Amino acid sequence: MHDYPTNSLILRSHVVLQLPTLFTTFKTYMDLQDIAQKLTSLLSLQEVDHLLDNITQTRGTLPEEISSLERKELQAQRHVQESEAKKEAIEEEIADSRSEIKNIERLVKRYEEEQMHVRNNREYDTITKEIDLQKLEVQLKEKFIKEAYGRIEQQKAQTEQSKEAVTECQKFLKHKKAELKQLVDKSQEEERKLSEQREGIATSIDAHLLSRYEHIRKSVRNRLAVVTIKREACGGCFSRIPPQRQISIHEKKEISTCEYCGRIIAGVVDDE
Ligand SMILES: [Zn+2]
Repeated sequence: MHDYPTNSLILRSHVVLQLPTLFTTFKTYMDLQDIAQKLTSLLSLQEVDHLLDNITQTRGTLPEEISSLERKELQAQRHVQESEAKKEAIEEEIADSRSEIKNIERLVKRYEEEQMHVRNNREYDTITKEIDLQKLEVQLKEKFIKEAYGRIEQQKAQTEQSKEAVTECQKFLKHKKAELKQLVDKSQEEERKLSEQREGIATSIDAHLLSRYEHIRKSVRNRLAVVTIKREACGGCFSRIPPQRQISIHEKKEISTCEYCGRIIAGVVDDE
C-alpha cells in the first residue's frame, strides 16, 4: 500500500508548476472536473462490483468444492493408470522369468543326456552338481513368480480402489454442478446486466486508475477500494485524517489515497 506517492508531495509539485495564465486556469478547471468525474465513476464501479460480489456470495463455497473434487478425480484417475502400469510391468517380469525357466529346463535336459555318456564317476558328479544348481535356480524363479502374482493382486486391488474413488468424485461432482448451475441460471440475467454496466463504467476510467482500484480492492478485507471521510476518519480503516488534509481531499485536485490503508478517498462526507 505504500507504493503510491503521498498526496502532499504531489500537491506541492502541482502548486509549484501552476502558472497564472488563462490557459493553465482553464486546464486546471478541466482537471478538477476530470478528477471529480473519475472519483464518481470509481464509486459507481464499486457499487456494481459490490452487487456482483453479492451474486458470487450466493454460490458460497460451491465453485471451490467443485474444483477441489475435479482435482481429486484427476488424481484418482492418475492412480488408476499408475497401478495398471505397475501391473503390466509385473506381468512382463513373470513372462521373462518363465522364458528363463524354459531355457534352464532345456539346459538341464542337455546335461542329463550328457550324463548318459560320461566316462567316469567324477564327470557324472560334476554334471549332477550343475543340474542341481540349475534346478535350484528354477525353484527360485518359481518362487519369484508366485510372489509376483501376489503383487499383481495388490495392484488390482489398488486399481479397484482408485476406480471407486473416481466414481465417487463423479457422483458428487454431478450433484454440486447441478446445484451451482441452478444458482447461476437464477442470477444469470442480473449478472449479465451488471457486467454490461461495469464494462460501461470501466471504459470511462483510465487503465492505470482502474488497475489501481482493482489492486486495492483485492488486497483489503472489506473489498472497499474507494471510501469517503466520515467523522474526520478514513471510511476504510477509520484512521483519523488531519483537517488540513481533509481540505485538500475535499478540493479534489488529485486522486487522494489514505496514508494508512492506501484506499482511494473520494471526498468528505459532512457530519449529520
Ligand atoms: Zn484508511
